[in-house]
Amino acid sequence: MATDSECIFCKIVAGEVPATKIAEDEHSLAFMDINPGTRGHALVIPKAHSADLLEIPEDDLARVTAMAKEIARRAKERLGADGVNLVNSCGADAWQTVFHFHMHVLPRYKDDTVKLPWMPGAGGDTDEIAAAGRELAS
Ligand code: AMP
Ligand code: ZN
Repeated sequence: MATDSECIFCKIVAGEVPATKIAEDEHSLAFMDINPGTRGHALVIPKAHSADLLEIPEDDLARVTAMAKEIARRAKERLGADGVNLVNSCGADAWQTVFHFHMHVLPRYKDDTVKLPWMPGAGGDTDEIAAAGRELAS
């Protein structure tokens, strides 16, 4: 299994660094974030080291996503979350700080104070949206 001796999340997988684990199987691990944005904020990782979204193999990504879905379900049922954001940052300029792929499972509550600089629904330039779309289309 791929591992990086300098990586804090690989150390959690190896049991060398403590973590509050909440779900685990052969390939994936979920544990509580030490700096939670809301109550119940958890991280789901592949046990094998991949730096980010562009590096993680599809099967590991599918397993991590399935475990994130299960943690989201528990957050709603057991913590009374009103909603959940799944967040992944890919690259330092996208705010990635730990370079072992992880999915944030961020329970959301009606009156929580979570803010991002970007809010959906703010509108956009139709021509520029189409131009970016052409560059992204196959
Ligand atoms: P990101 O900025 O998307 O790379 O997120 C990294 C996340 O990992 C942050 O929310 C940190 O609070 C969290 N984190 C860093 N070290 C640990 C650790 N040892 N145990 C649990 N969470 C951690
Ligand atoms: Zn790692």
